[in-house]
Amino acid sequence: MAEGLKWLQCPVCKKTISWKVPDQALKKVTRFPVAIVVKHEDHNLVCYVDSHLQLADTEVAAAYLEGKSKDED
Ligand SMILES: [Zn+2]
Repeated sequence: MAEGLKWLQCPVCKKTISWKVPDQALKKVTRFPVAIVVKHEDHNLVCYVDSHLQLADTEVAAAYLEGKSKDED
C-alpha cells in the first residue's frame, strides 16, 4: 500500500474508497485533528486525521463551501 493511502467505507453510498493523505500539506499543520475534505462522487466526506495520520472521525457533508473569517487576510 502506498504511503499515506487510506481506505474507508463511504457512509453515504457504502462503497470502499481510497484517498491519499496530503502529507506535504500536513507538514504545515500544527494543530490536530485536522479536517480533510474528500470528494466522493456527488458528496463529500470530512475526515479528521490526528497527528499520527490516523483517521479519528468521519463526517458526511452533502456539499461544502470554503468560508473565510473576517480577520483573515
Ligand atoms: Zn460515497
